[in-house]
Amino acid sequence: MDKAEYLEPDLAFIARLKRAGGESVKKCFQCATCVAVCDVTQSDKPFPRKEMIWAQWGLKDKLFYNADVWLCHQCGDCTMHCPRGANPSEVLAAVRSLSLAEHAVPGFLGNMHSSPAALVPLFAFPIAVLLLAAMYANGLAIPAGEIIYSRFFPLAVIDSIFISAALFALITSALSVKKFWGGMKRNAPQKAAPDAAAVFGALKDILFHKKFAQCRANKPRYTGHLLVFFGFLALFATTNLVMLYHYLLGRETPLALGDPVKLLGNAGALAAFAGVSYIIARRLAAPKETGNATYQDWTFILILYAAIITGILAESARLANIPAAAYPVYFTHLVFVFFLIAYLPFSKFAHMLYRTAAMIYAASNSKTS
Ligand code: SF4
Ligand code: SF4
Repeated sequence: MDKAEYLEPDLAFIARLKRAGGESVKKCFQCATCVAVCDVTQSDKPFPRKEMIWAQWGLKDKLFYNADVWLCHQCGDCTMHCPRGANPSEVLAAVRSLSLAEHAVPGFLGNMHSSPAALVPLFAFPIAVLLLAAMYANGLAIPAGEIIYSRFFPLAVIDSIFISAALFALITSALSVKKFWGGMKRNAPQKAAPDAAAVFGALKDILFHKKFAQCRANKPRYTGHLLVFFGFLALFATTNLVMLYHYLLGRETPLALGDPVKLLGNAGALAAFAGVSYIIARRLAAPKETGNATYQDWTFILILYAAIITGILAESARLANIPAAAYPVYFTHLVFVFFLIAYLPFSKFAHMLYRTAAMIYAASNSKTS
């Protein structure tokens, strides 16, 4: 017989969870209506009722290292039907928000991203790196003549900065996901190693937003998320195609407006702009339906927005031939892009890493059950 365990609620963690948006946690009386209405939950390991009782006791290890928390896509259907006025959708969102710092490797960068006071040093780093690079490349002087950004920042300089940032993000993402995966294995031992079907199934779900499409209470979120997702895929593809153009075909930027890669980049920027505008407008107009956005939610969406807007403005200023505006805006754009790329595993952006890992983990585990 297993030894009985004396359980003390972790009051400090419960207070943190409430501050992060899970203030309704104590209202839950375990009726399981939320489980019955959730379209995403699996029958052999239902949620979010069990997470609500874990949260009431402050069992943070169970909450943080639990795939189900990341399978939830905050549709709000459970909240809409809860007879006690609890808000399981927001409680799970609060757990995810706190998880970002918990899983982050190195941990201090995760903690910095959850603290408003750390925003200045987080921005100071890319500003300093890019200023030093611009001083090294051209003494910070605004080049005369036609606006060509590679005259301000030679491509080799930009590529070495952003490839380093991407490598840093790649390594820290792998370490952070490894920590999360190890915790999931500890709490719910794996029945099978993930196979190709589990990986492709998860990627297909993400690509087509299959779960999002099932949303009822918060259906408009699907539209905004889809626009941002495909907008960023297009921008990511554009960046890589521009590098191929340069290094394989010897073609220089700026590309002509009619070039297919340019068209793809502009379509991506417009889709991302429309998606983020829609998400922000909904958050401001209907905060109840969209949920309590946390500090991390807001910083991420606003930095994303700033990166998109400065990108569009940099191109507009170049086309309008206004060097005094074009180069500073381009510099600012690079600062925001660096922030998004280098700090990916520590910001809200990391939800795509943990959600993908959780989906693969859950799919490989349910296969043999
Ligand atoms: S969160 Fe609401 S619906 Fe879910 S178990 Fe608790 S009381 Fe019931
Ligand atoms: S918010 Fe939606 S996906 Fe998440 S637990 Fe509730 S019903 Fe399920």
